[in-house]
Amino acid sequence: MKLLSYSKALYSSWLYYSPDRVLFDAGESVSSIMGNKSFAVEKVFLSHGHTDHIAGLVSLINIRNNAMGDKRKPLTIYYPRNNFHVSELMNYLYKTNSNINYSLDWIPLQDGDEVHLFGEKGSRSARSIVAFATEHSRREISLGYNVVERRERLKPEFRDKSQEEIREIAESRGRGEITEPYWQNLFTYGGDSVPLNPEAVSGTEVLCHDTTFLKEKDRKQYKHATIREAIRVGKEAGVKKKMICMHVSTRYKDNYREIAEKVISEEDPPFDVEVIPPGKIFREY
Ligand SMILES: [Zn+2]
Ligand SMILES: [Zn+2]
Repeated sequence: MKLLSYSKALYSSWLYYSPDRVLFDAGESVSSIMGNKSFAVEKVFLSHGHTDHIAGLVSLINIRNNAMGDKRKPLTIYYPRNNFHVSELMNYLYKTNSNINYSLDWIPLQDGDEVHLFGEKGSRSARSIVAFATEHSRREISLGYNVVERRERLKPEFRDKSQEEIREIAESRGRGEITEPYWQNLFTYGGDSVPLNPEAVSGTEVLCHDTTFLKEKDRKQYKHATIREAIRVGKEAGVKKKMICMHVSTRYKDNYREIAEKVISEEDPPFDVEVIPPGKIFREY
């Protein structure tokens, strides 16, 4: 399993990205749905401090302290710096849980901060998570996150040369002379903000975007995003594989797919679009 998620606007949102044992947001039900897998989580990245994205932290932290799983496993929680709700929850947790018996760290992040995941830093295929600024509402500080991998490509001046020529140059001058590093966005989690800045998620392979509203007319004020806006962000950003639509409102019942499909066919994006059914557990293998 690569992704496990539950997302229902207003109630709860979280997404577990298993390749890096990272949980994005922690709405209620996260630990009861994840069960034993809760112990696999190493890092939690919070997009903002609204209840539907952080309420599950209380039990996630608590079960690690009391349940049968591995109690020595450290847990690190990354959150937007100066976020009032997250700071208050942190205070509550320490006041009510005086003997947390594993290493629990809270690290504030801001736009551009990088958290190294694995691989020698600066080496090929080293992986990180980089925070980027998002716009939620006036008083709520929020962040999105890109899982990025360091890769290498030919420098522009060598790109027109034949394989044979490149091999010769590499042998005489060394590979380092002809290649340059770049960071590939593998996976993006945008939280429940308004349409993301396409530049911040440029070329990502998989984009998780808020799509609270499947119909434009249902959105009464500039909060969250519509599925059409999200697809347009994806097109402008050059999403490579897939968009995952999260945080869908429960006003859309069993016909959510039909409504979404209409917009998807009108927009005809060059990537797949998958909608996480509101209120149903979503798994991707
Ligand atoms: Zn929110
Ligand atoms: Zn939300």
